[in-house]
Amino acid sequence: MKIAMIGTGYVGLVSGVCFSDFGHEVVCVDKNDAKIAMLEAGEVPIYEPGLDELMAKNVAAGRLTFSNDLATAVQEADAVFIAVGTPTRRGDGHADLTYVMAAAEEIAVNLRGYTVVVTKSTVPVGTNKQVKHVVRKANPEADFDVASNPEFLREGAAIDDFMRPDRVVVGVQTERAEELMGDIYRPLFLRDFPVVYTDLESAETIKYAANAFLATKITFINEIALLCERVGADIKSVSKGMGLDGRIGNKFLHAGPGYGGSCFPKDTKALARIGQDVATPLQITETVIKVNEEIKRRMIDKVLDLCEGSFKGKTIAVLGVTFKPNTDDMRESPALTIIPAMIGGGAKVRVVDPQGRREGEDLLPGVQWTDDAYKAVQKAHAVVLLTEWNEFRALDLKRVARRMETPRMADLRNIYAPQDAKKAGFDAYVCIGRPDMI
Ligand code: NAD
Repeated sequence: MKIAMIGTGYVGLVSGVCFSDFGHEVVCVDKNDAKIAMLEAGEVPIYEPGLDELMAKNVAAGRLTFSNDLATAVQEADAVFIAVGTPTRRGDGHADLTYVMAAAEEIAVNLRGYTVVVTKSTVPVGTNKQVKHVVRKANPEADFDVASNPEFLREGAAIDDFMRPDRVVVGVQTERAEELMGDIYRPLFLRDFPVVYTDLESAETIKYAANAFLATKITFINEIALLCERVGADIKSVSKGMGLDGRIGNKFLHAGPGYGGSCFPKDTKALARIGQDVATPLQITETVIKVNEEIKRRMIDKVLDLCEGSFKGKTIAVLGVTFKPNTDDMRESPALTIIPAMIGGGAKVRVVDPQGRREGEDLLPGVQWTDDAYKAVQKAHAVVLLTEWNEFRALDLKRVARRMETPRMADLRNIYAPQDAKKAGFDAYVCIGRPDMI
């Protein structure tokens, strides 16, 4: 099977590399020439564990190439995947489909022979039909079908998620397209991973509903954590006691500084807009969006309390800025709300993150970057643990406390225990949904 993957971001590149590993012949296309030059030189433009090796293996096998020539890639393909960005449209919360529709038009005029045009990007209900219309208009003679194949991989575990998915969702209108999509994913269902075939609208809805549900679960536990702080309960015990119920499950029940990332914020907003557009307001999703914003703002207050009510003149060390560990992605990271507030209040901020610097340098002007947690905390008045990278999970807390001007910690991922912080010599330790030590 010959596949053209349009867009080589987190989703397109991982999907393209994994499809080539299934044995398909894949061309990954991007209009960003610098990205293609890097890929051709064997470099991976994003940080995703294991991706460099799998990419090198399939390039060496001759199944995987990179190109900025969309026309040729599409002309030769049996299936063309659209995996471009669908960010929030400025002003109204809708998903911005500019990139999807531009790609569809460009694909249309280059179709040769029967081809399935597959949308992998997360797109609102009705988009696949719109893609079909755009292609048909641009190329009335084309022999093609559309398919909706939303992606569920998580950054940081993307290869494993793609290779061992909980399910693959495929929305189609014809048996011919279903058969071709089946051929593409055959290596997976030989290993018994379920493929859910459905219509286009259901496939599009599944993706948004799944993400909104997960965002709701996170926000629910974050709100319960606030309650725990008021009533003297411990969110870690509460999450454990809840999560052991098989109907609830223990995943996505860790309290933290609010969800971020490239998907949950934009997808919850887009889903809320879809509901409003069809006069069916999705009140739960709308509330989740609001509560998550409040939770992020509360984190600023927590750090402010730790700094005795003022950031002015304080040096604050921040451990972790990416929206979660094992990625370099900074999109909608809670760090982008919390750090500017500290700087705006007059603090000097030192940052350490194993992969966040390349993206973060532009997004966080005015911070000082270091490459080591112990250097970052030197003479600091407070340390804020924002992202639970492995290297921040087992710090020598005594060493940290000794180096600080005033040993105070905001542990916004509940990595440490208040009593351990106290034993290590911290005079103040705040966390989420557990008794603080101030
Ligand atoms: P991204 O921004 O990392 O990458 C998009 C790429 O598409 C960029 O490299 C851009 O240059 C390229 N591009 C845009 N228009 C193009 C065109 N006409 N021709 C060729 N290349 C073009 O985006 P991403 O994070 O990979 O997300 C892609 C889609 O997948 C989004 O809809 C997103 O919601 C969805 N998704 C993302 C994740 C995730 O974890 N990142 C998970 C599931 C689904």
